[in-house]
Order: sequence, then C-alpha cells, then structure tokens
Amino acid sequence: MNEQTKKNLDELYKELRIIRTYDHAVAIIDFDFETCAPVEGRGDEGDVISYFANKKFAISNSGKMKRTIGYLYGHIEELDELDRILIRKLNENLEKTAAVTAKTQLKWLKIYNQAYIDWLKAKEVGDFSLYKKSFCAVIKASKEKVALRKNALPDLYDNLLNDCEKGVLSATLDKFFDELKVGLMELIAKIKSSDHVIRRDFLSRKVPIYKQQEFSEYVLKLNGYDFKRGHISTTEHPFTNEIAKNDVRVTTHYFENMFLSNLYSVIHEGGHAILMQNEPEEDFEHFINDSVTNGMHESVSRFYENVIGRSKEYISLIYPEFHRLFNEELSDVTERELYEAVNIVEPSLIRTEADEVTYGLHIVIRYEMEKAISAGKISPAAAKKEWNRLYREYLGVTPKNDAEGILQDVHWTNDFGYFPSYALGNAYNAMYLKRISSEMDFKGAIARGDLAAVNDWMKKNVFAEANRLTPEKWLLKLTGRPLTAKDFLEYLNDKYSEIYGF
Ligand SMILES: [Zn+2]
Repeated sequence: MNEQTKKNLDELYKELRIIRTYDHAVAIIDFDFETCAPVEGRGDEGDVISYFANKKFAISNSGKMKRTIGYLYGHIEELDELDRILIRKLNENLEKTAAVTAKTQLKWLKIYNQAYIDWLKAKEVGDFSLYKKSFCAVIKASKEKVALRKNALPDLYDNLLNDCEKGVLSATLDKFFDELKVGLMELIAKIKSSDHVIRRDFLSRKVPIYKQQEFSEYVLKLNGYDFKRGHISTTEHPFTNEIAKNDVRVTTHYFENMFLSNLYSVIHEGGHAILMQNEPEEDFEHFINDSVTNGMHESVSRFYENVIGRSKEYISLIYPEFHRLFNEELSDVTERELYEAVNIVEPSLIRTEADEVTYGLHIVIRYEMEKAISAGKISPAAAKKEWNRLYREYLGVTPKNDAEGILQDVHWTNDFGYFPSYALGNAYNAMYLKRISSEMDFKGAIARGDLAAVNDWMKKNVFAEANRLTPEKWLLKLTGRPLTAKDFLEYLNDKYSEIYGF
C-alpha cells in the first residue's frame, strides 16, 4: 500500500469512528422511542433522532469523505479483502446519495417519523383513512429518493428490493413467489382435508406476564443469547437492535391470554440477536458489521423460531421447564399437545401470528401490493380495498377493522421492499438445513439441549461471510445451489404430513 493510500485509509477510519458514535447515540434514542417514550413525548424525541441522524448524514456525505472514498475506490487493489468490501459498499451508498442535500434528507426523515406517529394513532382506532396522508408521503419520498440516484435501476420497486436484498429483483422474485404460492396452496388444501383435530383450548388461557417473562429469559439463554451483552424490553412491534458490538437488545410484546405470541417473538428476535452477537470480530474492525441483508437475517431468526423452535426435539427440550413454570395454568397439556399446538395451520389475519405454512401467503400478498403500488397500478388510497380483496382470495379471511388489516405492520411507515425478505429467509434456511443435517446430528443436538453445537456450525458457515457476500453468492457458497422454494416446500410437507396424518 502506498503512503497516500495509507493516509486516506487512516482518515476514513477516523471518520467512521465518529459516525459509529452517532449511530450508537441514535440507536439508544431510537430504542427509547420505541419502548418507553410516552405518546405525547414522541414528537419531540423523533425530532432529536432526526437531528442526530442528519448530523451523521452530513459527515458521511461531506466533501472530505467523498474525496477519501473516491481516492480509495481508485486504489482498491492496494487494499486488503475486508477494506475492499467496505470501500465498495461506501462507494455504492455515495452514488445513491450523491445528489441528496442535507435539507432533503431531513425532510424525508421527518416524513418517516411523522408516518410512524400517524400509524400508531391510526392503528389504535383501526382506521386506515387516518394514515392515508402519511402513506402517500412515504411513497412519494421513496420515488424522490430513487429519482435522485445515480445508476438507478429502471424500475422503482427493483431499486427498493435491491436496497433490502442486493441483487434479488422482481424477475427472480416473481418466479420464486409463483412456485411458493402454488406449493403452499396445495399443502393448505391437504391440511384442510385432514380430519386430525389439534387441541387448542389452552392457547387462550391467562398466563401471568411475570411468568412469561421468566420463560422468555429461559429460552433466550438456552438458545445461546448472551445477556451480559444484551437486554430485553417490551414494545408495540417487536424488533432487535444492534446498538453496539457488546449491546444487542431484543424486544417483545406480552399478551396475558396468548402466551405463544411472546414465546415465538422472543425466539425469533433472539435469532436475530444470536447472529449479531456472533459476527466475526474483524467485521467490526473493518466497519462492515451491519452488512447482512434482511433476507439473510430473517433466514437466521426464522431458523431459530421455526426450524428449531417449532421442532419436536425443541418442544421436548423445553417441556419440563414449561411444565414447572406454568404448572397452575397449563399442567394438563402434554408434550405432544404442545408440539401440535405450536404448529396449528390455519388461515388468519395477522402475519406475525401466522403459522409456518400460511405465513408465506401473507408475504405473497404484501409483495403483490408493493409491486402494484410502486408501478402505479393501485393508488395508495385504494390500498385498503386491495388488501382486503387479496386476503379473501388467498386466505379466505376478512379483517373486521384496519388494525388487523392493512395497518397491522409498521413496515409501510418506511420504504417498500422489506417484506419479501421474510419469505426469502424461509427459503434460504430450508436450503442450509439440508447441509447442517448432513454434517452433524442436528436433531440430536437440539434434543440434548446442545444449542452451542448448532450455534457453532451457524457461526462457521452461515454467519462467517454473511457481511461479506451478496445473498446470491453467500447462498451458492453455503448450499452449492441457487435460490429455490423447493426445499422449503419439502420441509413443510415432511413436517405437516406427520402432524396432520396424510
Ligand atoms: Zn425478524
């Protein structure tokens, strides 16, 4: 590396350390915003977040930063592998935002913050009309954002998809979702025609929140979440936040009469957190630690939630603690009954409460809607009607109000493109499930409670290069095959034919 390159790299690292400090501060305020800030205080706190995020944006996009990145991009062959990944990423971001002024950036941030506030209010009374204005503003902001980009892809939605899952565009997703939709519809029909009855009377029993809290901590620890570098809080819409290398926080939502809701939220968010707590040390040193795509992240969280958490072996593992802690409320529930109950398949309204099988159709609906709205085929104002129509057609259910319909998810207070990643996550993890099962006694490890062995394999294979490769390359290296819905459909058919007896 020549002297000038070394100087530029040092300069870049100095700036990135400052940016990381801003990110750290914003993440803490944001965590506060979403977990405990009072409703009336959220407007002001949102302004504080915007202020610091905007400061960070100014540093990231300063002339000095642009020159430094530009120089290093021109001398990329002198850098080591991880710095190359960093510089390519920074250069790509710069190209996206080169024409965005700090003022425009601030305007967008305010739109998103306002949208979040309006969404909360609209959801509370279950009325989409109260959110319409913000929804239109968010979509307009996405359009403006893409229009200002250098090297933008021709299609608006492809740009948004590419932001979430680099390289996975609608041409690939159309095929993937078609295959998934057909496979799921066939499987649901088989399940519907089965006469096996799953016991469910105990699912709505009152289970005190303090007991659910204790159980949440038990499963998080069991799965390998490190509480010395973590924390758990409550929120409206559960999420996980990597505040810093040694501070990865998960959130959940407790319902007294729906104990499974919290349990699987916690296992899901815990999965995100386990990935974050086990990223390679060098990825932090080279500032590429937050590069895992949404789809890769979801593949991990849903691996812990479904493939592990809803397996026979896992239920058998947690059953003694379940029986001990919920003895007063659920002592008459057998292990098999619990296993079947966490795997009931039934079309429903709420995505986050959906089972593994119908879940994919919730995503198909959102994918089709995002694509149609982005292409101007459906106006944002008509979105509610389309939502309800698709739910009737694919799942045979109709929401009573918008809180259990179009307003249920927080995602549309920001850019489109995130939802497909949930379905991709399922497809990815079903593909690497085949490999882990061939290389170790996967089911046996879960049954023995040796989650450390599973986490070790995940760390070596799934996590190790997730920050460094595109989803396509990562998947190919990990599984030797390109994206397919087949493995996921096979996994579901194997599991549910045993449960429902067909
Ligand atoms: Zn998730």
